[in-house]
Amino acid sequence: MGVTEILLNLIAIPSVSSASNRAVIEYACQWLTPNQWVIRTFPYADPNGIEKINLVAAPRKLLQRGLPEDASSSPYGNSVATRSREEDVPSVELALVCHTDTVPYPDSWPEAVHPKVMNGRVYGRGACDVKGFLACILAAVGEPELSERSLAVVLTADEEIGCVGAKRLLGEKLLYARNAVVGEPTQLHPVVAGKGYALGEVVVRGKAAHSAFPQAGRSAILDAATLIDSIRKIGLRAAMDRHDRFDPPFTTVNIGTISGGTAKNIVPAECRFLVEWRPVPGQNERWIADLIGEELARAQREDPGLQATFEPIRVDSGFETDPRSKLVGEIERLSGNAAVAVAFGTEAPYLKRLGAETVVFGPGDMKTAHSVEENVPIEELERCVEILKGLAHRICV
Ligand SMILES: [Zn+2]
Repeated sequence: MGVTEILLNLIAIPSVSSASNRAVIEYACQWLTPNQWVIRTFPYADPNGIEKINLVAAPRKLLQRGLPEDASSSPYGNSVATRSREEDVPSVELALVCHTDTVPYPDSWPEAVHPKVMNGRVYGRGACDVKGFLACILAAVGEPELSERSLAVVLTADEEIGCVGAKRLLGEKLLYARNAVVGEPTQLHPVVAGKGYALGEVVVRGKAAHSAFPQAGRSAILDAATLIDSIRKIGLRAAMDRHDRFDPPFTTVNIGTISGGTAKNIVPAECRFLVEWRPVPGQNERWIADLIGEELARAQREDPGLQATFEPIRVDSGFETDPRSKLVGEIERLSGNAAVAVAFGTEAPYLKRLGAETVVFGPGDMKTAHSVEENVPIEELERCVEILKGLAHRICV
């Protein structure tokens, strides 16, 4: 079966982050087991009680030292509690990392899970983000010689809702990888730097009153407007700290949602809004959070009646890999594409924290991801399979 057929099968298995990814993991296992791969799965329950599964697979020869024997016989029976002691943790030269979940799709797009091939492209949810890369991994590991190499496949859950699976894997100490390729649609360009992702919520409290008598209350929406303007200025300040590898070359700040008030003739008692920022690597990823906290404190000193809180919800750093590293050089050579930076968040910072030289790479264009136009060119899928095989030969000695 070719990479396109594998991808068509994968898209037909829905794996929106709110649902279990078990069916995708089971499908992937079919491709890994016949080739002398040892598979370990790490199930967990998400906050809604839904089963999610992370998977780590490596050639049996490599893992014999690090895994208990029963781990290799049962693909699903292994819990975190049976993990190897730290000194037994196997290390590999190259980990191929891919998330298994997708963002949701509208009912008006039935092709989302009934993929179609048109004009040399596969269309459907996950085509490029990121079942396309997963299909490439599964097609590449079909080559028996790869099962002799110092290689691992790492599949994660819940990437689209905050890299939850990758964060859990980081805590398990299952595997050390010297190099990692994290799948995301990059049009086969090696991505060596990525911005982080951070989010926080501001809650402003006022006092409700009949709008004919505004002096009896305090408008949370007007207070929010003052704070929003201060945060806009924080965004301008952040734009002064340049990182020229990116476009735009600085940390961006966005207020993406706002809600408040209950009726047109009531002074609003509450207003809340979400502040998102994408920190450039090398900058303290909490910097914007600190500035917002200082701004709130200053505003409250000036106006003691103002009541507002700011809670960071998520603060993930960016990543940056030395563009002169062997991994980057090999991918540039094999793909014919120069290294670039991207503005979207990925799992790369977590792999980087494991000590791996990390590159984000994959077929398709992120501009079509998360839309009803999501697609991937078949030609890029096929080239990606060859690049992964070539990389395993060059890196995994
Ligand atoms: Zn993705």
